[in-house]
This record gives sequence, structure tokens and C-alpha cells, in this order.
Amino acid sequence: MSTVSLPALSRVAVCGGTHGNELSGVYLVRERLKKKQQQREGQESFSVTMVMGNPRAVQQCRRYTEADLNRCFTRATLNSPISDKTPYEIIRSQELNGLLGPKGSPKAMDLVCDLHNTTANMGLCFITFSDSDWISLHIYRHLQRELATIPVRYIHFDLPKNEAYSLESVGKHGFAMEIGPQPHGSVRSNVFVAMQEGIELMLEWIRLFNSGTHFEGGSVEVFTLVKNIDYPRDPETRSITAAIHPELQDRDFCLLHPGDPLFLSFSGETLRYKGKEPLYPFFVNECAYYETGIALSLASRRRVTIPSIQCNRDRLTMGTDV
Ligand SMILES: [Zn+2]
Repeated sequence: MSTVSLPALSRVAVCGGTHGNELSGVYLVRERLKKKQQQREGQESFSVTMVMGNPRAVQQCRRYTEADLNRCFTRATLNSPISDKTPYEIIRSQELNGLLGPKGSPKAMDLVCDLHNTTANMGLCFITFSDSDWISLHIYRHLQRELATIPVRYIHFDLPKNEAYSLESVGKHGFAMEIGPQPHGSVRSNVFVAMQEGIELMLEWIRLFNSGTHFEGGSVEVFTLVKNIDYPRDPETRSITAAIHPELQDRDFCLLHPGDPLFLSFSGETLRYKGKEPLYPFFVNECAYYETGIALSLASRRRVTIPSIQCNRDRLTMGTDV
């Protein structure tokens, strides 16, 4: 396969606090904003913009105040009219689109990395709407090779670009970096350090890419969302009637076979997975998804071939002249 030539990444954004109680990202952005003055300005081949996604929710240490910000980046919501009654997060999504986008335009950030935490035992996951964004997939492979302390995986939500709803979809390239387990509203040092190392490795990769390094192609493992499963619920009250089964708890990305235990009901009954094919569970018992009706998600696993890539440095020169 021939080498794909891609433009340099000259404007990069790292966002945290898009969910205000996911504290590794919140503190990572705060720390980097504090250190900004001391950074090697002028020596980098690219700018890094640090952004606190939802400052109002961060202040209150809540996921969101009126609407989930990380569901507000569809084209429809970004273009919706603002009135007195518009939820704060919709107004904020349009502000962020102005700062980091506009989505789909040449002015958009070259790369947006949005930092999240999960209560699920997922390690470090890239979450994106594309399985053919060579930049994200090469950065993913770099982290997978270099990060020894935590498993690194790539989750693909197979939605049309128009329906992509999360913040990183505003950039030309982008992914959420989701790390867990960490309870919301708290910070665990191992998770914080893994996030810090993940960001440093991403920036290192961009430096290498912009300087003309040739990255070999190959194949990488990708998990694609197949379906979500809700908790068993009381048909009248909608209250849940079972918890994740102890044999499934914390076993994200361990293959779930038909007949395997899924839930343990509050009356002590084991409820089993009734699907026809084995699939990989993730977001198992994610705290924030009780309200959205997701007890766990299931993915299929496959290998994706990625081409060799190299920065088109002619375009870099043209880009800086404009
Ligand atoms: Zn989040």
C-alpha cells in the first residue's frame, strides 16, 4: 500500500471538563493552563489550545447543568436558534464550535482530543465516529505501543458524520480519550497519570509527524458498537430491578458469550445474555448511564488496515504562509 500524504497538524485542542465531574481531565487542563507561561513557545511546530469544556458544570462538580454538553455537537443543535429558554449547554456548544470549529470548515482545529473518565473498568479508550481517520488510528497505535501501565483500545461509533454529537467531532480529526475506572467527582492518581502520559505521547506523535517522520502502515484492533443493553426495569415505575452480575462487573472487553450471566436481580435471580453471537462488553455499569438506560454496551472486534502516512511538508509551508 502506498504512503498517504496528509497535511501537518498545526492547531491542536485538548479539552477537559466537558463533563464537569470527570476530574482527571478537569485537573489536567487546569494544570496545563497554569504552566502555559513556562512552555516552550515558538519551538513547537503546532499550537495547543487547552479548553475547559463546561466551566459551569465543573464549578458545580456535575456532569452537566441543563443538558449533556457532549450530545450537543450535531449540526442541527449547533445551528439551532438561541432564545431565553435555551439550555446553557446548547449555548456553550455553539461557543465551543466558534472557538474550535466551525465544524466541517477549513478553519476548524486540526485535531481535538476531549478528555473523559468512566466508572467502568475500560483502561484507556479512544472513542470516535470514524474507523478511517488515519491520524487518530496512528496516534492510537503509538499509545498502544508506548503505554505500559494501562490497556489502550479504540472504540468506533458507526454514525454518519452529520449525527456525530460529541465535542471532538468539531475538529478535522479528533477522538475522546476515555479512562477508567474512576468514580465521578473524584480523581485517582493512576488514572490521572495515565491521562497525562496519553496526552504527552499524543503530542510527541504530532511532533514526529509534523517533522516528516514516515509512519509504517499495518493493522490495528477496533471495537465497533453493536448495541446497548438497559437494566431490567419495573414496567410501571421504570425503577431498575437488577444490578450487573458480579461475574460481569469490571470485565469490560472480556468476550461475553450467549448464556453468560448479565444481571443479578434484587430477588437473587441470575439473568443471562440472550444474544445470538458473542460480543465484547464495555461501559459496564457506567454511573452516568443509569439515566440514559444503558447498563452496558456491546461491541464487535475486528482488525482495520491502516496505510503508511507521512506529513506533506510542502503544504505545511503553504499553510504557514497564508
Ligand atoms: Zn464524559
